[in-house]
Amino acid sequence: MRIGVIGGGQLGQMLGAAAGALGATCTFVDPSDTPPASSAGPVIKKAFDDPYALAELARDSDVITYEFENVPVAALLDLAERVPVYPPPGALRIAQDRLSEKELFKELDIALPGYQAVDSLEDLQAAATKLGVPLVLKTRRFGYDGKGQFVIRSVDDISAAWDELGGQPLIAEAFVDFDYEVSVIGARNPAGDVVIWPLTSNEHGQGILRTSRAPVADDELLARASAFMNRLLAHLDYVGVLSLELFVVDRSLLANEFAPRVHNSGHWTIEGAATSQFSNHILAITGQPLRSTTCPDFAGMVNLIGQIPEGASALVGPRVFLHDYGKAPRPGRKLGHITVVAGTAADRDALLLEIQKTVT
Ligand code: AMP
Repeated sequence: MRIGVIGGGQLGQMLGAAAGALGATCTFVDPSDTPPASSAGPVIKKAFDDPYALAELARDSDVITYEFENVPVAALLDLAERVPVYPPPGALRIAQDRLSEKELFKELDIALPGYQAVDSLEDLQAAATKLGVPLVLKTRRFGYDGKGQFVIRSVDDISAAWDELGGQPLIAEAFVDFDYEVSVIGARNPAGDVVIWPLTSNEHGQGILRTSRAPVADDELLARASAFMNRLLAHLDYVGVLSLELFVVDRSLLANEFAPRVHNSGHWTIEGAATSQFSNHILAITGQPLRSTTCPDFAGMVNLIGQIPEGASALVGPRVFLHDYGKAPRPGRKLGHITVVAGTAADRDALLLEIQKTVT
């Protein structure tokens, strides 16, 4: 099978490695010089929506997928007339707009924080009255890793928030004083078979994922998150890996957002689960049976952001795995991650602590 991948970042790199192990090949489209995925297959060095690059990709691929969310949906729809594109472009269209994403959660009876569309300063003032403060103001489109967000702590912050983000479609969300954050990751193939990994708990710093731990030992929470995941997968007639981020408040779950792709909070599945999110994504989009998502041990993941610490490679051992994406250092940039796997949650947490000391 020949897989065309739009985007050549670290997700593409890990998809490419999984594809290779499953006997498939990947070709990537990415405009940057030596993107991470260049270690996993040829790269067509063109813009993500370059019609010539996409025509070449369509000609040489049996199926097309994408590894980031800002791919123009129109380009995917165009490609889909020539070759299957998974996940379905309709899922991406919804995920690209926080308002339509939340409307879908509502439609599918997936609990979520209160929200209001904001297109003017008056809308924002009305949202603050209706939802109360604190309030999180977000751009509806193109936000990632906490970018395009402003936390309004009191009504005095409203005009500063508007000055920073106003002039584009926005959404105001009630601020959730969550106990912790989790993500649920599932995969579905064209036959409609679904697998779901154990729940992952996630810690963010400045809007960027820092640390993940799995499994969250709470079967009831997993059952509820899985019900949400199953509803989304079925409704979207989804093929591939889908990730859903949730807040946990008093043991109830509130949906934050979904991503129609493999997800940073699922990187631990490479070493920590029977089958990784990357392998099941490849199996799903190539129409094959999905494989076990069991997680026999306790896994953790620490993102390496801004720089790969000098001591990182010295930490590597039978239970510690370093992934260096080969990217140039830059503040706030995800350059790699370290996964740990241990027989008990306490051992896993001790390993994570050791790594966090090196990282920060
Ligand atoms: P997002 O880009 O929506 O995933 O937001 C990034 C991170 O900001 C989340 O993982 C949370 O840690 C935090 N965050 C986002 N929305 C809210 C909210 N409504 N209430 C509290 N924290 C939030």
